[in-house]
Amino acid sequence: MPLQIVHHPDYDAGFAANHRFPMSKYPLLMEALRARGLAGPDALNTADPAPASWLKLAHAADYVDQVIGCSVPEKIEREIGFPVGPRVSLRAQLAAGGTVLAARLALRHGIACNTAGGSHHARRAQGAGFCTFNDVAVASLVLLTQGAAQNILVVDLDVHQGDGTADILGNEPRVFTFSMHGERNYPVRKIASDLDIALPDGTGDAAYLERLATILPELSAQLRWDIVFYNAGVDVHAEDRLGRLALSNDGLRARDKMVIGHFLAQGIPVCGVIGGGYSTDVPALAARHALLFEVASAYA
Ligand SMILES: [Zn+2]
Repeated sequence: MPLQIVHHPDYDAGFAANHRFPMSKYPLLMEALRARGLAGPDALNTADPAPASWLKLAHAADYVDQVIGCSVPEKIEREIGFPVGPRVSLRAQLAAGGTVLAARLALRHGIACNTAGGSHHARRAQGAGFCTFNDVAVASLVLLTQGAAQNILVVDLDVHQGDGTADILGNEPRVFTFSMHGERNYPVRKIASDLDIALPDGTGDAAYLERLATILPELSAQLRWDIVFYNAGVDVHAEDRLGRLALSNDGLRARDKMVIGHFLAQGIPVCGVIGGGYSTDVPALAARHALLFEVASAYA
């Protein structure tokens, strides 16, 4: 069976090409996956919008209602980085629903990936930093509520610290949040995860992978995890506009192999989400995001 991939054409909310958020990476990622033979009909699953009841497990009810009703206060929209109109609202509901679906597929097949998700700056009270709903927090709480998982590990390797995930899941003992990120990156005020590793500017492949290789066995020795959510943000790449770290494509590939291989070798399902990546060269950026799917497909 091919790698199960969750997608929806409306992950792309159709921003202008010069917007600070490179929205066109979503259709270009699908193009890259098709070109690699990874997006056949037996591989693709269509995301459904997450119902409000799921979103409210992770977010304040009034904020969820504001996003669904497209009535988010301007002050919060400024923190998110774009206005929450109908397309952004739908996209946020779909991305969260997509990560829930990818998690269920991972529980069934061992591994599955969403072609969106990793919106880790969205906190309980509101969105921030290009993140409207925190899909991984929503999916974790849906799995716990439905009894589909009891112990969940979040491995967040996006270059930015996972402050929103830490905020939402900080009081949830059944979820362990791990974030490895650039020390000097957004957010300025970090919210402590269960484990944070902050890396200095310019960290390259060797130092990065060495650090990760040390920490993964410590994480898996803690508990028998029922599922791992892996935020494979590619903004750790040397050519990322916001990243400050210096990984190469080979480094990204080795990182994804290390994480996925480590947990699958122990029979622990992995749900991959794409996380952040910022570049004006959007085809190159989409190819970086495609690495997760290339690596994951070797384990499917
Ligand atoms: Zn990021």
